[in-house]
Amino acid sequence: MEQIDAVVIGAGVVGLAVGRALALAGREVLVLESQNAIGTGTSSRNSEVIHAGIYYPAGSLKARLCVQGKQMLYTYCTERGVAHQRLGKLIVATSPDQVLALDSIVAKAAANGVNDLQKLTAVQAQALEPALSCEAALLSPSTGVVDSHGLMLALQGDMENAGGLLALVSPVLHIGLKKGTATHPIRVTTQDGTELACQVLVNAAGLSAVALAERMDGLDKSGLPQAHYAKGNYFTLAGKAPFSHLIYPVPEKAGLGVHLTLDLGGQAKFGPDVQWVDDPADLQVDPRRGDAFYAEVRKYWPALEEGALQPGYSGMRPKINAPHELAADFMIQGPAEHDIPGLVNLFGIESPGLTSSLAIADEVSARLA
Ligand SMILES: Cc1cc2nc3c(=O)[nH]c(=O)nc-3n(C[C@H](O)[C@H](O)[C@H](O)COP(=O)(O)OP(=O)(O)OC[C@H]3O[C@@H](n4cnc5c(N)ncnc54)[C@H](O)[C@@H]3O)c2cc1C
Repeated sequence: MEQIDAVVIGAGVVGLAVGRALALAGREVLVLESQNAIGTGTSSRNSEVIHAGIYYPAGSLKARLCVQGKQMLYTYCTERGVAHQRLGKLIVATSPDQVLALDSIVAKAAANGVNDLQKLTAVQAQALEPALSCEAALLSPSTGVVDSHGLMLALQGDMENAGGLLALVSPVLHIGLKKGTATHPIRVTTQDGTELACQVLVNAAGLSAVALAERMDGLDKSGLPQAHYAKGNYFTLAGKAPFSHLIYPVPEKAGLGVHLTLDLGGQAKFGPDVQWVDDPADLQVDPRRGDAFYAEVRKYWPALEEGALQPGYSGMRPKINAPHELAADFMIQGPAEHDIPGLVNLFGIESPGLTSSLAIADEVSARLA
């Protein structure tokens, strides 16, 4: 049986960031990915927004890792030449109730250490974005966008330069966690029958992370969360949007509302909405959901023309809370949680997981230390 220091399951942005961090720390690392390319999961089906860290409950992992991760990501992208833009975003209140909500957003952001929000009157907001209709707004100057695939390629490159390896088309089927004195007590079996013995195993399998942990022999399953899935559908705009900032409504319960994001080429998309589903592979966008998009978007952009929206793509949120429950935090279970040396399970790494990826990698390294 082959022996290796560390195995990471999943070559999404988080698995690659973890693989890079472990390789840079001098570990022999192998990242196992079931698909034939990196980043084909949630990491290529998102808004590519570098979030500021505004909305998450104070003291949560999402708040801490997003704020840290944002700073790390801007620095990393600048140093490594990964395309990104600090476009800034406007959070727009379109009713008097929502104007009141803006103050609580400012307070929430400040509790997370995000102190750069600027309150704007409708006139000030419209001076920035003449097509916008709102009662008031907040400007978040540190929100931006990133080329997520360019980021993943850079992470993979760093990992490989530090001696790490990536194996594609290598789905992990089974994991055995042996107790005792073996130097490499964790056994990983891939679909083609390859068996690996390792000291460190990081489960960064995204939508499959809970199912994979349920199949780990030797892990107490009582601490595992229940997996749920919430699809986020996007509609794209035919033609150029008259906006230069990202535009977000005041957030809803399970998502951030149907917002307008721009890619690095200035092309606009709207979404994601929230559609709870049973099957994580259900990625079709139902064109009938477009009606709700027109209604939501016209609250802040009344001039949106009929027929301008096309069904785009969707992404799947790896939820660990049920629809009626409050949004869960990231769940990072290391040896302190399950008492198995060398094992870290990453559950519920939904948004802001892209923004937080470098900080999650440091957190995983710290929990393994
Ligand atoms: C609609 C939507 C919008 C979002 N927008 C943003 C945003 O704007 N900004 C932000 O910061 N975050 C955003 N996110 C969150 C972000 O996309 C995720 O947190 C991040 O991509 C998660 O990366 P990951 O590596 O954990 O998972 P994934 O990208 O899903 O990677 C997991 C990988 O594991 C592989 N895998 C699974 N099972 C196995 C196995 N058994 N063996 C081997 N490999 C396996 C999969 O093939 C996959 O490649 C959004 C998410 C969604 C759904």
